[in-house]
Amino acid sequence: MVSFNILILVALSYVAALFWVAFLAERRAAAGQAKWLHAPVIYTLSLSIYCTAWTFYGAVGYAARSGLEFVTIYLGPTLVMVGWWWLLRRLVRIGRAQRITSIADLISSRFGKSRRLGAVVTLIAVVAATPYIALQIQSVTLSLAVFADHEGAAWTDGDFARAAMWFAGGLAVFTILFGTRNLDANERHPGIVTAIAVEAVVKLFALIAVGVFVVWGLGGGPVQMMARIDAADLELWEQDTHRWFGLIFVSAAAFVCLPRMFQVMVVENDDEAQLRFASWAFPAYLLAMSLFVVPIAVVGLDLMPAGSNPDLFVLTIPLSQGANGLAMLSFLGGFSSATSMVIVATIALATMVSNHIVVPLWFALQGDQRGAMSGDVRQLTLLARRLSIAGVLALGFVYYRLSGGGTALAAIGLISFVGSVQVLPALIGGIFWRGATRPAAAAGLLTGLVVWLWSMFLPSFGPGAVIPAEVFVHGPFGIGWLRPEALFGIGGIDPLVHGILWSMLLNTAAFVGVSLVTFPSPLERLQGAQFVNVFEHTTGARTWSRPVAAAEDLLLMSQRIIGRTEAQRIFAREATRQGIPGQLPKATTDFVARLERELGGSVGAATAHAMIGQLTGGSGVSVEDLIAVADEAAQILEYSNRLEAKSAEQEATARALRDANAKLTALSIQKDAFLSQISHELRTPMTSIRSFSEILREDDLPAEDRNRYAGIILDESIRLSLLLDDLLDLSVLENGQVVLRPQTGRLSVLLDRAIAAAGVHDRNLTILRDRATEEIEITADLDRLVQVFINLISNAAKYCDAKSPALTIRVSRAKGQHRIDFLDNGIGIAAQNHELIFEKFSRLADESKAGGAGLGLAICREIMHRLHGDITYLPGTSGTAFRVSLPI
Ligand code: ATP
Ligand code: MG
Repeated sequence: MVSFNILILVALSYVAALFWVAFLAERRAAAGQAKWLHAPVIYTLSLSIYCTAWTFYGAVGYAARSGLEFVTIYLGPTLVMVGWWWLLRRLVRIGRAQRITSIADLISSRFGKSRRLGAVVTLIAVVAATPYIALQIQSVTLSLAVFADHEGAAWTDGDFARAAMWFAGGLAVFTILFGTRNLDANERHPGIVTAIAVEAVVKLFALIAVGVFVVWGLGGGPVQMMARIDAADLELWEQDTHRWFGLIFVSAAAFVCLPRMFQVMVVENDDEAQLRFASWAFPAYLLAMSLFVVPIAVVGLDLMPAGSNPDLFVLTIPLSQGANGLAMLSFLGGFSSATSMVIVATIALATMVSNHIVVPLWFALQGDQRGAMSGDVRQLTLLARRLSIAGVLALGFVYYRLSGGGTALAAIGLISFVGSVQVLPALIGGIFWRGATRPAAAAGLLTGLVVWLWSMFLPSFGPGAVIPAEVFVHGPFGIGWLRPEALFGIGGIDPLVHGILWSMLLNTAAFVGVSLVTFPSPLERLQGAQFVNVFEHTTGARTWSRPVAAAEDLLLMSQRIIGRTEAQRIFAREATRQGIPGQLPKATTDFVARLERELGGSVGAATAHAMIGQLTGGSGVSVEDLIAVADEAAQILEYSNRLEAKSAEQEATARALRDANAKLTALSIQKDAFLSQISHELRTPMTSIRSFSEILREDDLPAEDRNRYAGIILDESIRLSLLLDDLLDLSVLENGQVVLRPQTGRLSVLLDRAIAAAGVHDRNLTILRDRATEEIEITADLDRLVQVFINLISNAAKYCDAKSPALTIRVSRAKGQHRIDFLDNGIGIAAQNHELIFEKFSRLADESKAGGAGLGLAICREIMHRLHGDITYLPGTSGTAFRVSLPI
């Protein structure tokens, strides 16, 4: 008799040993010394997680109930390994090239890196795997209960719950410890893989030991055993062919699609060559695992009392024979099967849950604050991974408890498989068919999920549990063709086959159908090309030794970079060169290299290389390439900054032009005003001359009047000619055609001349001068200077409205200038008119009083500018004041 406590002790020691193995492997791997990890035999053994406790114990029960049907579960993977290992190799290659971390990642990555698709696959995986994890918990607790029972202490429900809790909790700790030690870029777990390889050996050894014991110890050798099998009451050969095909298909597909299988087969793989070895070694392992199933079943049925659970024969036969050591070994075998499956499944699911649900959700809730995130992401991901591991195991535990741990659970193994297999169409389509699109993948997955839930998963709880009993008979809302186990009114099929058939059929139909009516986005096309052409990838070389991108893809990309017409021109030219009609030349090495240079002109050489690399083979993009791309991006940024600066400059120019234009418009308006002003100025004297001339023609005019009129005509003519002189003068001055005659003279003399010419005596203007200051020599065009003085003096005479008008002329010198100021004692000129009076035709007093055209000061300013001096209004005096300044 074996003590239950010893069993617990052995189990704990075994777990401790696994810890030690995992720890050691982890340390060796970190030090780069874990050579054995690359051994194909380790890889093959890690694949053995396919054989769970359900297989270890359940296969015998399966055989006892349904004969050879259990073989299908081994046949599926064998067929994949032997016949389809090229498909696995493709998956492994893609996994490596794309740094895939899970099957959800693969699907999401293939279909344009869609987050939602990743979440959907994760959801399916969790829903399908949870019952399976519960199944493992159940088998471990059951096997423990067998020992307790054997000792005479029958387990209560509380005992089961406690055992399940310890088991799930312990696994959570182990998985968190070795599954989330680091966020390896490749998501490899050397510690866990090594521990699992050890467990694979233990479970195979245990099962063979029990088999040998049964065949040679109890059955009397192989020959007698064969006879017993023949005589047994097993319906070995009476098989339902539909079920056979269905089961082989599902187990083959599950072997590829199960998240845990994907984890060991693709994610943990580090050398494709391992697959070649596994392609025969793993089927051999499966054969060894199944070799003794039938003998154990036959002997168990003979030996054990009627009604004992055939699922536990592997354990109960040795126990009943008093082979306690063997029973213990058998327990460890089952324990190994359960733990290895749960650990890997949990890691795979947790990776998916945290990468595709928790982290995206967290980012969405955070709002996009990427800048502050970069440091935290690692910690966040690790935390999410750990929480997900605990969550997945908790889910398995809860499911185990809620389902009651009975036979309902045992039935769910295959149903679980069918759920996982819903990923198959998207997976196969994704890696072989470039036309497959994201909406199609989503449609297929969701269709498959719904059909599976409705026709298999929910009914598995039995009529009335989740789906009411009458729905099974009449369908939901009385819709007959929606009956869960007779969809579309086709009943009478085995429920398993029915579920496989419809879920896969509708799933595939939705996937293919939607793919045909939708068009892949550019990113999907890129990813699709990479996945489908994964084997044609070149390795990192700067030249494209084997370009395989379709010219169509290259054209599409080129159009986006250098524009439609330019791209089409290049392609058409190449097509002509190659002698191919139309626009699509062959993507020869030469052409691709040339195209790369061409694109490089627009986006930079590294970027062009990387982009073409995307199309012709992803492994061409190295870290150096990426750095080069970053450099180019910086250059482009700088270039765009320069462009921006230039455009700012142009804006300034445009503004200047606008201003100039506004000035011109204003000038043109001024010119019009000037012309109308001139005509007005000319017409006034002309009118009086004409009318008085007409009066003069009358014969009977008194001589006195005649004289007067003739005088007026004379005055007006003089005014007119003066005006014309002034205008002519001004125009000559403004055009710069004036010829200056520099002379030297004394200022006092010049002023004398000016006063005389201005005729101030008639107007009784007093002139105040300081002759001493005026005794200076001046060199300039003296006639012109006098002209200025005359105007200033005559203006004072005309406009000074003081009672006794006086003009002070003050001479000084400062800042290298002679200054001659003219100050009168009138009321002065308002500040806003100081500049205005220098304009042509500007007069402040009314015309009649002024008696001038208003050109005087304008001419003065022109003259002074010609003489390199100036004339300004001098503010701050009580009367009117002008200052004439001349360089010395
Ligand atoms: P023109 O000189 O062509 O015969 P004008 O004397 O009227 O005509 P400006 O010499 O250019 O023209 O003078 C412009 C205006 O400035 C005058 O019409 C007058 O209103 C004002 N002005 C000039 N000098 C004085 C002054 N000393 N006192 C008051 N107003 C003055
Ligand atoms: Mg004047």
